[in-house]
Amino acid sequence: MIDANYSDRTWYEATAERGPLRPELSGRVEADNCVIGGGLAGLTTALELARRGQSVVLLEARRIAWGASGRNGGFVSNGFAEGMGNVAKRVGLEAAQALYQLSRHGTEFVRREIAETDPSIKAGEGWQGCIRYSNAAAKQAAVAEMARDYGQEMQFFDVAETRARVNTLRYFQSSYDPTAFHMHPLRYSLMLAKKAEIAGARIFENSPAANVERQGAVWVVRTAQGEVRAANVVYCMSSLDRTLHKPTGRAVLPVATYVAVTEPLTQDVIRTRSAISDTRRAGNYYRLVGEGRLLWGGAITTRVSEPRRLAERMKGDMISVFPELGNPRIDYAWSGLMGYAPHFMPLIGSDGQGQWWATAFGGHGMNTTAMGGILLSRAIAAKDDEFRRFEPFGPQWAGGPFGRAGVQAGYWYMQLKDRLDERRYGRAA
Ligand SMILES: Cc1cc2nc3c(=O)[nH]c(=O)nc-3n(C[C@H](O)[C@H](O)[C@H](O)COP(=O)(O)OP(=O)(O)OC[C@H]3O[C@@H](n4cnc5c(N)ncnc54)[C@H](O)[C@@H]3O)c2cc1C
Repeated sequence: MIDANYSDRTWYEATAERGPLRPELSGRVEADNCVIGGGLAGLTTALELARRGQSVVLLEARRIAWGASGRNGGFVSNGFAEGMGNVAKRVGLEAAQALYQLSRHGTEFVRREIAETDPSIKAGEGWQGCIRYSNAAAKQAAVAEMARDYGQEMQFFDVAETRARVNTLRYFQSSYDPTAFHMHPLRYSLMLAKKAEIAGARIFENSPAANVERQGAVWVVRTAQGEVRAANVVYCMSSLDRTLHKPTGRAVLPVATYVAVTEPLTQDVIRTRSAISDTRRAGNYYRLVGEGRLLWGGAITTRVSEPRRLAERMKGDMISVFPELGNPRIDYAWSGLMGYAPHFMPLIGSDGQGQWWATAFGGHGMNTTAMGGILLSRAIAAKDDEFRRFEPFGPQWAGGPFGRAGVQAGYWYMQLKDRLDERRYGRAA
């Protein structure tokens, strides 16, 4: 398991009630299913299995949502980390449409669970995606294509409409996705854990799975003090453990990204409670949270340690878009690790022997982890085989350290391309 040098001093931890620590696994426990990893993928799978009448044990190495699930940007929207254009190129439009529909079910699941149990977890509606150069035709075409090919409801905002909501000369046109929303991901994860327990799942914290072995008809999952014997094992460790299940472990790359939260702002620059992002692919997504604080996500690297001076770097990004902010105090800054497969799509599958996996959700995991949990629970409990739609995106070797260098080079290329586009279209404007 990766020894990520994570700061636990996040704004989310400061504004959530974790409740008492759950017990460590000790002794022998039997269940139909053992889910490994207490992030959103593992929690949704456990909840949905329990709802379908299966007995479930979930093992979490540290605390629930200690990984990306409890420290992310909180944007929930349809789709995947990979763009739909590339998905369609690989599997054809019809199969891509079916996948997009599944991703939409993930968004709807999250929305419904929050509405039913604790609406205060949701922090705002909609997502405005802004471009940093003027190209109305391209933005309009992208909006029209998503509507035509995927039935995605989407609006186009011209420069005036864009700047009425996000007051910066850096932005030109934008799209608005009214089906997206944003929320407190740690409170949501803790809510799912409670719901899973109410449905009958048993959750153990500080219980890293050390190895998994086949014994007769069952899998034996061992921790330091105990073992779970189960017909099915579901691997949901993302990139935080790449050795426990080798076929997916070697197919997932850890990619780090960062979040900073300011003091409450007084400047009138962000006039919307929607989520916002801009065309810098390697960053810049943000939203207002709590008492008017700016939560800013950005920067992507394959270095897994938290860079020193992270807060200053994030502040620099904020001020480059909103110079009026002056010198805001950064009250919180932290990093998180995502898991990416080389094709940027989730790995959802099975070996046909009772081993299942739902991992590599990349930077688009809020809806897709829910989708993955639903698909696998239906497959295990009801022999449904819709999860096979992900077969074209199976686990392939991610190239070890060379793969990591390749991903880093890819991001640097995207950053360079963003800057060239801005210069090119900026001049044209
Ligand atoms: C900073 C940041 C911002 C992001 N912003 C967004 C966003 O706005 N919208 C969006 O859609 N997505 C976003 N993402 C991506 C999203 O958070 C992830 O895709 C999603 O949370 C992945 O969930 P997961 O359950 O697969 O992994 P994780 O949440 O990482 O969970 C894996 C869990 O497995 C546990 N584990 C590991 N090894 C073992 C073991 N051996 N035994 C037991 N347990 C183990 C870990 O402790 C961890 O709790 C962001 C990610 C980051 C890091």
